Amino acid sequence: MSGPFLTYTKARSLDEALGLLQLQPARIIAGGTDLLLEPRHGGCPYHVIDISRVAELDGIEFNMAEVRIGAATRMADIAGCDRLSGSLAVLAQGAAQVGSIQIRHQATLGGNLCHASPSADTAAPLLALDAWLEIASAYRTRQLPLKEFFFGPGQTALQAGEVLSHVVIPQPSPSATGEYVKLSRRRAMDLAIVGVCVVLERLGGRPDPRIALAAVAPTPMRAELAEAWLRHSEPWDAATLHQAACMAAEASSPIDDIRGSAAYRREMVRNLTERILGSLVSQVVELRSV
Ligand SMILES: Cc1cc2nc3c(=O)[nH]c(=O)nc-3n(C[C@H](O)[C@H](O)[C@H](O)COP(=O)(O)OP(=O)(O)OC[C@H]3O[C@@H](n4cnc5c(N)ncnc54)[C@H](O)[C@@H]3O)c2cc1C
Repeated sequence: MSGPFLTYTKARSLDEALGLLQLQPARIIAGGTDLLLEPRHGGCPYHVIDISRVAELDGIEFNMAEVRIGAATRMADIAGCDRLSGSLAVLAQGAAQVGSIQIRHQATLGGNLCHASPSADTAAPLLALDAWLEIASAYRTRQLPLKEFFFGPGQTALQAGEVLSHVVIPQPSPSATGEYVKLSRRRAMDLAIVGVCVVLERLGGRPDPRIALAAVAPTPMRAELAEAWLRHSEPWDAATLHQAACMAAEASSPIDDIRGSAAYRREMVRNLTERILGSLVSQVVELRSV
């Protein structure tokens, strides 16, 4: 075979893919929307294992405790899933903003996470939903909180022989709410300059605010100090929300690049975080007064 691939094998099951990974080092391909762009920038040919047609890795399952999403589930299926409602809607909002319709019918959730771009549109929503990962190898399946998965741009906790098999989200409480906002230079086909996702939930009667940021640090991240401030500062008035937004901006470490300056990105973290928090808090207050 010519091109970047030494060999190309379409796996029919997760076990088959894991077995093939034992035989020789190989790259996993799912939608290929990131991987197939890589050779343009140089690199040696490699073996690939295609998991895009592995049925057990495709689909969204709901039960009382969690939502389990196969790594090869396409963005279009996530964006169009009506059952991703309440705070879970933030994931559908993120998936709906990936590339174009064509890209979303090809691109997978697992590929978005494993490519480990700081601006990945599903990463901030999943971090704010406290998602964790199931990572399989021929010898074991391990579980890892998503916030421990990203090491740096293009770098993850995945080890040789491992495949991300599922993304798992604990079922949020019915009253939980959230929003993901992506700021980009144009409406479609552009990566985020800044992505902010906020999820508000009450656990055991106490507030559990979660703020996740994309494109403003080497990895997608949680603004944990801002979250802690909110946890201990009820009731939430405008000054409290402003302070939390400033703390989120302070926690970010953006770079200057073609999409925006570091100073602009930091200011947009503050602006978007404050806006989303204000909007979510007013929704919660309106709901309580109905
Ligand atoms: C025109 C265009 C626009 C885009 N716009 C956006 C955008 O707006 N927002 C955004 O977030 N992204 C965007 N992307 C990037 C890309 O579409 C997404 O990151 C997509 O989700 C990647 O999924 P994939 O299935 O195509 O991954 P692939 O290209 O198949 O794989 C990506 C990487 O992950 C690894 N991998 C994939 N699946 C697994 C697995 N299950 N286990 C282990 N490793 C795995 C591969 O080996 C590879 O290193 C865009 C891409 C293009 C080409």
